[in-house]
Order: sequence, then structure tokens, then C-alpha cells
Amino acid sequence: MHPHIWHPYTNLKIAPEPLKVKSAQGVWLELEDGRKILDGISSWWVNTYGHGHPRISRAIYEQSKVLEHVIFAGFTHEPAEQLATKLVQRLGGGLQRVFYSDNGSTAVEIALKMAYQYWVNLGEQRSSFLSFAGAYHGDTFGTMSVSARSLFSAVFKDLLFTVKTVDYPHTYLGDSGIVQREAVVLEQIDQYLQQQTCAGILIEPLVQGVAGMQMCRPEFLQALRKLADTHNTLLIFDEVMTGFGRTGGDFAFQVAGAVPDLICLSKGITGGFLPFAVTVCQEKIYQAFYSDDPLHTLYHGHSYTANPLGCAAALAGLELLEEFQLSIKGMADRHLRHLTNLQSHPLVNRVRVQGTIAAFNVGEGQDYLNQVGLEIRQQSIEQGLLLRPLGNVVYLMPPYCISDQELGMAYQIIGRILDHIDTLKN
Ligand code: PMP
Repeated sequence: MHPHIWHPYTNLKIAPEPLKVKSAQGVWLELEDGRKILDGISSWWVNTYGHGHPRISRAIYEQSKVLEHVIFAGFTHEPAEQLATKLVQRLGGGLQRVFYSDNGSTAVEIALKMAYQYWVNLGEQRSSFLSFAGAYHGDTFGTMSVSARSLFSAVFKDLLFTVKTVDYPHTYLGDSGIVQREAVVLEQIDQYLQQQTCAGILIEPLVQGVAGMQMCRPEFLQALRKLADTHNTLLIFDEVMTGFGRTGGDFAFQVAGAVPDLICLSKGITGGFLPFAVTVCQEKIYQAFYSDDPLHTLYHGHSYTANPLGCAAALAGLELLEEFQLSIKGMADRHLRHLTNLQSHPLVNRVRVQGTIAAFNVGEGQDYLNQVGLEIRQQSIEQGLLLRPLGNVVYLMPPYCISDQELGMAYQIIGRILDHIDTLKN
């Protein structure tokens, strides 16, 4: 154990010692002791195109020879301009002002500040947000506030601002009650928005990640868009995880057919090479800040805003997003083929797939501290597969370059582990 490192979400007193990774290529991590582990979760959902992709690597190297960094207030540069242009083209839907930052929490934090100040600049004070049960939007105080009150934020609860929360109408294959559950949630939102002027509605579209890969239907997001319009509030999509191909199209909002007013992107934006993020908004929001009054300025920025290396990595990433279209679009069917076998397993419940993401619950109910997740994590690593179940939710979110054979291997390992756990139970 290293004497000077403090790992995230980890209490080393009770956690196993971290594994030392020497290198990584494609879907494979190579450990210092020579073992190889298939990265079934794209290393916290960031390595969308596989590890060490030479295109991104080269782009960063070439950019580093010309301009590695420069202050982004009062200055601009080619990679930032090119990236903003290309991103806006790829996003479409009128999302056309790009604000750069460097991680997912911050991208959401900025969206909250933009939404809040948007109303202030228009002369209205709106101090509430609406978000969803189970949501996870980051670890800063603002994003903890709009996330579900959970293990992650429990100790800080007195410092968080309150938000209105409603259920996330999650569904799974063969779910017959979803339309009704959606109607209840939509009615609650409608009621709330009739009584309260709200700065914005924040949601992880199509898939709530940390909540346990909970998936909602496009129809729900379309109805949410309508409600936001009817009640004149802003709709914010946190696509930190769902962006860049994850849900089967470029962005979840495109797959869902519901365009947000603000979108937050990070993780896959540089294919896992560099910390980078953007918050992109509709022009009407930017226009509320474009003013002679200094108080209308968005006073927010970071030392590494629009880092040219990050921009270069993101530009290369956009090329790869195009090249991986077939794999992105075909991954759901590949998952489903394997899942049909697993589905009959007595421990497998609530199977769900959205694009490149597949998930199911092990046993009944759902619980983040369920020990079965830890056991599966340990066993899968021993068998050469990196899984990190969220409680008793097992999911696969592989890099898009995963071959049929590699995907088959991942499912075989999962099957073996489930059989083992089942035997232990009986
Ligand atoms: N939003 C969502 C939907 C996420 O999944 C995450 C990270 N898991 C974040 C925000 C926060 O991103 P970061 O860890 O880069 O701060």
C-alpha cells in the first residue's frame, strides 16, 4: 500500500489493496504482475473507444508541440474554436454555446449556475430545481444538492440546498406497468410546476448511472420536454455518462427525441485520455448573459478551461465517434443475444439494455451496500474481468472496440460467477 495516496470512494482500512496497472490497450488492462483484465466498464465509463487509441494519443502529442495551454479569458485558440464548431454541428437541436471545463461534476455545476443566473438576468428570482430520486450528478456541493441524498452525501446533508425530487420512472425488458408509473410522475411534476417557478429540471436522460443503470423510456423525456415548455422552465440533461455513443446514438437526447436547453458532457469526450468537459446551451440562454451590465456576466472559470490538449483529444474523439458508429449501433443486439441465455438464471432480474449498456439486478430489490456486488467484483477480477457492480446491479459498459469473442468471454465469466453464488446460497 502506498504511504501517500488517498483513493476515491475508498477506505483502505477495509478495502482490498488497489491493483497496480502497468499499461492498457483496447479493452485490456495489464497489471504489474502480468495478469490481463478485460475492462468491462470502460474504466468508470470514460474509455469509450478503448484504451490507448493511437489517434487520440497522436493528436495530444502533436498539439503539445504547438500550444500546451494558455489562459482562456481574453485569449482563444484554434483547437477550442474547431472543437466548439464541430461539437455544435454534431449536437444540433440549437445547442450552440459551448462552455469549457474539466470534469463531469463541474459541467453540471456550471449548468446549474447558468440556469439559475439566466432567470436572475431576466429579472426573476427562481430558487428551486427539480431532480430525480436516485440521481447522481457529482461530488461538489451544488451537484450533491441536486443528487439523491445518499451514502455519498450523507455526512454533508446540512450544507446542501433543497430540491424537489420525483421518482425516475425506470423500466426493464417485459415491464408492463411503466406507462402508468410515468403518468404518475408526470402528473406530480405538472402539479409542482403549477405551484412553483422552478429554475430548471435536471435529469440523466435514458440511463441513470450511479443509481444502478436505471433506464427510462424516450417517451418520458419527450413528455418532460413538453412540461418544461408549458411551465416555462429549463430542461437540463446531464449526459456526462450517456454522451458520445453510450446509449446507441451520439447523444441520449437524440436517441430520445427530446432536446434540452442545457447539456453537460464529459467522460467519453476525450475517450479517457484527459480530464475535460463542456456545458452547452441554447442561444437564448447565452443571450440573457450578453449584456452591457457586468452583473450579467457568468463569473465562472477554471485554470484549465479549454486546455488545448483536451480540445485536441476531443476533436480526435469526435472522429472516432464517427468511425465506431456500426459498433455503437450494433452493441444492443449483441448484449441481448448474450442476455437471453442469462435471463433464465434464477438470480437474474430486471434485465435492461440501452445502446452499449446492459444491466440486471442480482436477486430481489436493489441496495447499494448489498454485499453480493462486492463479491462479484472480487470474483470477476480474479477471473480476468473488471466489473464494478452498483450494489446488486451488475452491468457491462465496454469500450466500443470490444470483439465478439471478448464480449462472449465477459458474459461467460458473469454466468460462472452467478452459478457459483447460486450454489453458495443453496
Ligand atoms: N453526472 C453523471 C451522470 C455521472 O455519472 C458522473 C460521474 N459518475 C458525474 C456527473 C460526475 O462526473 P465526474 O466524476 O467527472 O465529476
